[in-house]
Amino acid sequence: SKYTKEDIIRIIRENDVKFVRLQFTDIFGTLKNVAITTSQVEKALDNKCMFDGSSIEGFVRIEESDMYLWPDLDTFVILPWHTRHGKIARLICDVYKPDGTPFEGDPRYILRKAIQDAADMGYSFNVGPECEFFLFNTDEYGHPTTITHDTAGYFDMGPSDLGESCRRDICLTLEDMGFEIEASHHEVAIAQHEIDFKYSEALSAADNILTFKMVVKSAADSHGLCATFMPKPVYGQCGSGMHTNMSLFKDGKNAFYDPDSESGLSEIAHQFIAGICKHVKSISAITNPLVNSYKRLVPGYEAPCYIAWTTCNRSALIRVPDTRGVGTRVELRSPDPACNPYLVFAVLLQAGLEGIREGMTPPPPVSANIYDMKEADRKKLGIENLPADLIDAVECMEADPFIREVLGDHVYTKYVEAKRQEWKEYTTRVSQWEIERYLNKF
Ligand code: GLU
Ligand code: MG
Ligand code: MG
Repeated sequence: SKYTKEDIIRIIRENDVKFVRLQFTDIFGTLKNVAITTSQVEKALDNKCMFDGSSIEGFVRIEESDMYLWPDLDTFVILPWHTRHGKIARLICDVYKPDGTPFEGDPRYILRKAIQDAADMGYSFNVGPECEFFLFNTDEYGHPTTITHDTAGYFDMGPSDLGESCRRDICLTLEDMGFEIEASHHEVAIAQHEIDFKYSEALSAADNILTFKMVVKSAADSHGLCATFMPKPVYGQCGSGMHTNMSLFKDGKNAFYDPDSESGLSEIAHQFIAGICKHVKSISAITNPLVNSYKRLVPGYEAPCYIAWTTCNRSALIRVPDTRGVGTRVELRSPDPACNPYLVFAVLLQAGLEGIREGMTPPPPVSANIYDMKEADRKKLGIENLPADLIDAVECMEADPFIREVLGDHVYTKYVEAKRQEWKEYTTRVSQWEIERYLNKF
């Protein structure tokens, strides 16, 4: 690993670090942290830092609430933003029970298990996410709005792009934290941006997404803007996706690449795609976790709605970008940035591995534009729809034992319970749309 315990203690001393944040996430991917002063660092690095898990969503009941944070030394980084009283560092942690075994409700543990299953088959799993987000104005009280003065569009440059200096700050901060930024640009919608960082092994890719969101939010804040990863903040505009580029490596080689096949794609890649296609409906509640997520997955906004894969056209759910050789990868376009990336990568990897283990064959690739097809034609080709809304997705999840297997009983049960509750709350609320449409008319 990158650092030893002694390295970290030394770096903290040499850099005048005053606080260390011990970070972890709840089952919905919300970043949590416990801050400790440097006097407690040694204890924390010995895995002796305890916290009360009962107050974290989806964790445990009151009676069994003691949890321990085991810092992952490789995730140590000094936060580059300026504070008045010395520096702050962070460590991402695994959550353990008092008996020294991993806590089943820790999303990082669920991803670690999937990565281990892949390793047992000789594979390592690389992920490159493309996170989109909006930068909006705040109101006079500093509260978030959906108002913007930005009028720019895809790949536009300043001065029309008001978010540009904020985006530049985000990129520089991330580079200070060791990210390799591959591209950053204005996205299609007004006030929408995308920053792509280099792919990495799945666990660090998921860690990176949480760090990324934290940096984006904090940079926006210091520019007097608010950043949101809400999947569809504005009706009639594109939503924000988190396209997920995936590849498996075996013996240092990209296992998705086969120079001898016509498409350059290996048998393994096909089987992996087949596994994803098989489970993609039942993993929707994980990849697209909110009521709002399904308002993004509608025709006309470059987001997928039909289950199909392709080596050419952009509209498909699963796309194989042109790159071959080490860069050969499969891009799933449905996930949105409100997801818990640990759970998303775990279910995707396990679905792909199942495809490989069972030697599955994917449906034939579709090269025509699915959005131009009539429903009857899609039916003829066997192209199904993604779930239409959150409750549809939850029901698909419940109908597929695979998900419970991957998530484990604890997370599965809590997750379904919370999403059903969210749906119920949503459907019983009277919305602005109803008022506008019905109040005066009836
Ligand atoms: N914003 C689009 C979405 O909702 C994706 C645009 C793109 O191709 O990058 O997924
Ligand atoms: Mg994009
Ligand atoms: Mg993409």
